[in-house]
Amino acid sequence: MGCIFCKIIAREIPAEVLFENSCAIAILDVNPIHYGHTLVIPKVHHRDFLEVPDEELAGIMRAVHVVSGALVKGFGLEGFNFFSNNGTVAGQSVFHFHIHITPRYANDNIRFVLKLKRYEGQDMKGVAERIRASISG
Ligand code: AMP
Ligand code: ZN
Repeated sequence: MGCIFCKIIAREIPAEVLFENSCAIAILDVNPIHYGHTLVIPKVHHRDFLEVPDEELAGIMRAVHVVSGALVKGFGLEGFNFFSNNGTVAGQSVFHFHIHITPRYANDNIRFVLKLKRYEGQDMKGVAERIRASISG
């Protein structure tokens, strides 16, 4: 399929593998936000988060938990982020689902540039009702 992460999982191209369990592997990102920036990747190819079947979710998050703990211990971190880009508009560039974990440091100046909105009137209730309807429907 030409998927770079599938090739890493098949050991067809090299990567610094940090950890693996039955569902996921964790590798170093080649272009790190900070040294130690890690990608947790399900072993089975899924395009994005919504394509990941229920039975793989816990194993993937267990790998995120193990690696996060190792980064905190290994680098003496006070904090870290984990996040996932889903869809081109969200910044996804490799379409094999993955979770980024990156160390954070005081004053490292890494931030989303946010222009926060405010809900007006009944808008918040309307938004919540729309989401609740999509969950139940
Ligand atoms: P995203 O933009 O969220 O899809 O993230 C893709 C990530 O994969 C980027 O941070 C890349 O630096 C990383 N990446 C791409 N190719 C490789 C590779 N061969 N080994 C390790 N990381 C990679
Ligand atoms: Zn893949």
